Amino acid sequence: MQEIVELRVDEDFASKLFADNEGEKLGSVRKILISTTDPRFPEIGRLQESLRRTINRPFFYGWDIRRSYNKKELVLASIFLLLINSLFEPAGEECGTQYDETSACPKCGSGAKQVTDLFLDLRRIPKKKDVAVTIAGEIVVSRRLVDLFLKYKIEGAEFLPVRQKNDPSSESKEWFQLSVKSMDAEITSPTIIRSTLFNDDKDQSRTDDPKKIVVGNYVQVLHPLDSERCPTGDLLGLNLISEVSLKRDSYNGEDIFSSKQFVGTRRGLIRPQRLIFISQKLWRVVEEERLKGERIKGVSFEVAHLV
Ligand SMILES: [Zn+2]
Repeated sequence: MQEIVELRVDEDFASKLFADNEGEKLGSVRKILISTTDPRFPEIGRLQESLRRTINRPFFYGWDIRRSYNKKELVLASIFLLLINSLFEPAGEECGTQYDETSACPKCGSGAKQVTDLFLDLRRIPKKKDVAVTIAGEIVVSRRLVDLFLKYKIEGAEFLPVRQKNDPSSESKEWFQLSVKSMDAEITSPTIIRSTLFNDDKDQSRTDDPKKIVVGNYVQVLHPLDSERCPTGDLLGLNLISEVSLKRDSYNGEDIFSSKQFVGTRRGLIRPQRLIFISQKLWRVVEEERLKGERIKGVSFEVAHLV
C-alpha cells in the first residue's frame, strides 16, 4: 500500500521543509504530494503545531489522503471501503426530502431516518457518473449500476425511487437511491478517526476521555478519541485518517454493507455518515467492467480489514 498525502502548504513557510522547486505553487499556497513514509512527514505535524502555538498560523490548510495498492493486495483483500468522489448539491432536504430528527442521537445528531422518498433536483446530478452523493450523504446510482447488481446477483442493496423536487408524482428512470440493508459492521482499532491529520496537542489532551465504551452488553475499545466523538459511541469523529478495520464477527457476508458507527458531523444540511464497504466479489465485478473499458464512474476503493 502506498499512502500519499496532498497538502496545501502556506507559501510563507514552505521553505522550512521543502525545496524551492518542490510541489506546485498555487498563489499563496503550495500543493505538495508527500508519502507518509517520507522522513519529513512527521515534521509537517510538528510544524503545524508549533506555528499554530507561536504565531497562530498553520503550516498547511487543506489535506487529502490517497492510498494505492498493488495487484496482489487488491486480489487478497476480502473487503473494500467505498469512496464516492462525485459530490453534488442541492441536498435532498432542500428539495423536499424529510427526515425524522427525533430518531437521531440527541447528543450528536447521527442517524436521523429519512421518512420520505428522496427528492432531488434531477438536473443537478452529475450526468456522466454511475454513483454520486449529496453533501448530506444521500447516494444515487445509475440504472446501469442497478442492472449490474441484478446481473451478477449482488446482495445487500435496495434501490429506492428518486423524485424531482416539487413533483411527488415524478420518478426518475435513470437514478435510484442506494439503500444499504446491513448496518452492523463495527469499526474497531487500529482505525484512526479524528478531526486533524496529525494528532496535535489539542487531541492529545482529549485522549484522556474514557477509551472503553459500553455499547449494549459489550465493551468497545477505540482510539484515539477526540472532541468530535459522541459519548454514546455512535459517532467516532470528524475525519477518517487511516485505513478501516472492522470486527470480523460483525460482518455478515453481504456484498455491500455499512458500518454501525458514523463519521462526520451534524451541521446545517450535513449529516454524519456510515462508511460503506463492498465484498471482494463486488470489487471483481467492478474491476472486470473497468478492464472491458466500462469503468464505474464516481467511485474508488480502498482496502479495509477484518480483524
Ligand atoms: Zn451520538
